[in-house]
Amino acid sequence: MNCLAFVPSKNGQATKAGLEAVSYAKQCGAAVTAVMVGALNGDGGAGAAGATKVLHVSEELHDEGQIAKVVSAAAEAAGADWVVAPHDHVGRAVAPRVAVRLGAGMVPGVTGLLEGSTVKRNVFSGKAMAHVDVKTAKKVITTTPNAFGVAGDGAAAAVESFAADAGEARLSVTGFEPSSADGSVPLPEAVRVVSAGRGLKGPENWGIVEELAQALGATTACSRPVSDMGWRPHHEHVGQTGITIRPDLYIAAGISGAIQHLAGVNQSKVIVAINTDPEAPFFKAADYGIVGDAFEVLPKLTAAIKSMG
Ligand SMILES: Cc1cc2nc3c(=O)[nH]c(=O)nc-3n(C[C@H](O)[C@H](O)[C@H](O)COP(=O)(O)OP(=O)(O)OC[C@H]3O[C@@H](n4cnc5c(N)ncnc54)[C@H](O)[C@@H]3O)c2cc1C
Repeated sequence: MNCLAFVPSKNGQATKAGLEAVSYAKQCGAAVTAVMVGALNGDGGAGAAGATKVLHVSEELHDEGQIAKVVSAAAEAAGADWVVAPHDHVGRAVAPRVAVRLGAGMVPGVTGLLEGSTVKRNVFSGKAMAHVDVKTAKKVITTTPNAFGVAGDGAAAAVESFAADAGEARLSVTGFEPSSADGSVPLPEAVRVVSAGRGLKGPENWGIVEELAQALGATTACSRPVSDMGWRPHHEHVGQTGITIRPDLYIAAGISGAIQHLAGVNQSKVIVAINTDPEAPFFKAADYGIVGDAFEVLPKLTAAIKSMG
């Protein structure tokens, strides 16, 4: 089974979500060829994640219609039975166009491995799982970021330059600006996350969360009720119906640890829960638990981190 993985890159390196797409295909048992567009350092990290070859399109392309044309051509050239892309802002726009070009059935945002022709995805805002049977010979899949992780033990991939007619650009990106004013890493890529819930009582109290995040070089997140009530922006909501994250460190203050919250964070390497209630469910999922008041514990943690230099 041959798979072509579309791997978005930044500054010549594959994005984490792109590498997850490669690892996903490898875990499904496929021989994986990656296609990468624009500047590239070496193999961009795709080999370690499981690709044996990288088809490199050196042209900088920002129009997803153009990217879809070269990805479709690469899929044909690689004799791919299926194409995988991350379900991020680029993959989401490229994959459906590739599916149309290849006459393939497409499943977006999968959360399970492709087994034969069936694959699992969340539906109805995470309230149910659909098992989808893809009936076409060729298939296109996008992977939910942070649902699968990245295997990092493969060898470097062979890099071949690849050219295909991308056609005329129908749009151009005139500039980029960071969405967070503090320049913190976007949640799906964050290595450290400090998160808080309804236990913080109100948006006016988020200063202590932000101060700890800043001291740790972490990104802030929140539980769903907090974003539903407008205390924090929706892009900070983690969990079954929000963003799935996989940081090295997840600190949760004043969050009960409901199953729907844990679904989006329980792949974190180290979980620290801070809660006044010793019976809070989060303590069962946490590596470290602090039974205490977030209003006392968070400033103490911040001071301790700062004192470490
Ligand atoms: C279909 C569905 C999907 C859902 N999806 C999500 C999702 O994606 N993400 C999500 O987060 N939720 C989701 N939920 C909601 C989820 O079930 C919980 O209701 C929610 O996670 C609870 O948020 P919370 O822990 O902030 O608030 P609460 O449940 O109110 O918990 C607050 C916690 O703070 C503690 N606390 C209070 N004061 C302090 C203090 N001073 N210091 C320390 N601790 C304190 C309390 O002991 C308590 O444990 C979903 C629910 C459904 C039905």
